[in-house]
Amino acid sequence: KDVDHVYEALLNTSMDLDLEPDSLLTEEWIKDAVKRSGMKYKWAKLSESKVRENKDVERQPPPDPAVLVSRPPVVTIMGHVDHGKTTLLDSLRKTQVAASEAGGITQHIGAFLVQLPSGEKITFLDTPGHAAFSSMRARGTLVTDIVILVVAAEDGVMKQTVESIQHSQKAKVPIIVAVNKCDKLEAEPVRVKQELLAHDVVCEELGGDVQAVHVSALKGENLLELAEATVALAELLELKGDPKGLVEGTVIESLTDKGKGPVTSAIIQRGTLRKGSVLVAGKAWAKVRFLFDENGLPMKEAGPSVAVVISGWKELPSAGEEILEVESEQRAREVVEWRAYVEEQERQNQDLQVIQAKQQEHLDSYRKEKEELAHLTWYQRRRVRYKADKHRMAMRPSEKAESQELTLPLIIKGDMDGSLEAILDILETYDADEQCHLEIVHFGVGDISENDLNLAETFSGTVYGFNVKASKAVLQSAGKRSLSVKLHSVIYKLFDDLKDELTSRLPHTL
Ligand code: GDP
Repeated sequence: KDVDHVYEALLNTSMDLDLEPDSLLTEEWIKDAVKRSGMKYKWAKLSESKVRENKDVERQPPPDPAVLVSRPPVVTIMGHVDHGKTTLLDSLRKTQVAASEAGGITQHIGAFLVQLPSGEKITFLDTPGHAAFSSMRARGTLVTDIVILVVAAEDGVMKQTVESIQHSQKAKVPIIVAVNKCDKLEAEPVRVKQELLAHDVVCEELGGDVQAVHVSALKGENLLELAEATVALAELLELKGDPKGLVEGTVIESLTDKGKGPVTSAIIQRGTLRKGSVLVAGKAWAKVRFLFDENGLPMKEAGPSVAVVISGWKELPSAGEEILEVESEQRAREVVEWRAYVEEQERQNQDLQVIQAKQQEHLDSYRKEKEELAHLTWYQRRRVRYKADKHRMAMRPSEKAESQELTLPLIIKGDMDGSLEAILDILETYDADEQCHLEIVHFGVGDISENDLNLAETFSGTVYGFNVKASKAVLQSAGKRSLSVKLHSVIYKLFDDLKDELTSRLPHTL
């Protein structure tokens, strides 16, 4: 009953555990059970989480439309493997390096800016494997404004083309099709556009609103047209950003630069980043020391849609992490510490869920076992208990040896469950007699066997049989070993016999 009670209490923390004064469950046992169940730690946890208040960065209200300014589009290039994504990005970057006479060594920072002769700008993301696109979409902070879908004109729509379309459609990011490899003889740009129809990408030539530009990434043909189409779409989208207020952005890549140490590249999405700003991203924070562009040249500031390399991180945040500006270094430390705490809590919560599931399993099996026992016959139940008792006895041999109590070891055999039950029930009342203990070393249904004799010999006991037989061989064996086997068919006679036996064992003074 007590064990039941402890289990219920463990599952229901609001329940007090009050045991009977003479409970067999010791305080140690309960403490141990509670510890193993993980409950103790849940109690501690609940009280602790009440004390701590949220220290994370507070969200800024949406910007006032009056302060918004146009910003360049941020573009991701997607498409099937080998259709020319890398080549296209390289060619676009080259046009830029050639155009900017500033020189500097072009670095891969996961993003770069292209400026058209007209002065318009486009920020291209070139993160491999679209990691940024997917992880950022998962966070709901989408960096990408436009997807350029590269489809090789000789191959047409392939598996990853379709996946890219689905990604874009789910994220509601508009597409521009770059029909690539148009320099090839086998190129069939018209077929590409027809194939795209099946995936709800309807190009302008076919009556839709999706721009398609025939290019050769390899030869750098029509890249300007592609860039112009992108700018045109951006104008249509009326992309605007808030250059004021606290900085918000997204980590594109994190790396340790030989000269600059730990740096991240980022796309700024709100506010204008400057030296000295304090940022948090995930569980990392930075006091911005330097800003660089993709050519490694220092920048004074970076506003919305601008790709920038940031140095000054104490630790590196992960790609896709949201960057938020805070008021002070102290505040940054506080936020980071809070986030680490929350993460730890979540981890513990997961552990706790596992523990609770295990606990439930435990309780279920305990209840099941009880139910099973309830369905057993009286006799089977007694056997289970008997086995447990015997095990307990075996665990404490020294204790037994010390006690000089008088005991009468018994082996009881009956013809059926019912008679055995009656005999054992009466024997239990005898056992209350403190002068001589009855110790039932074995009981069962069936005739007296050699095994019963062995037990009697081992325990110096007596074998009683009710309505059962003992074969000649067994009786002879008993005689040889001076063991007494007593057979009865009338229950009161069996007990008279037993009383005599008990009396004979008591000291003569009685
Ligand atoms: P990605 O896997 O999509 O990044 O494809 P790559 O840019 O690596 O291009 C795959 C192959 O196609 C390379 O051998 C490129 O040289 C070639 N390729 C890319 N663009 C063109 C193109 O416009 N014309 C031709 N003829 N080959 C191209």
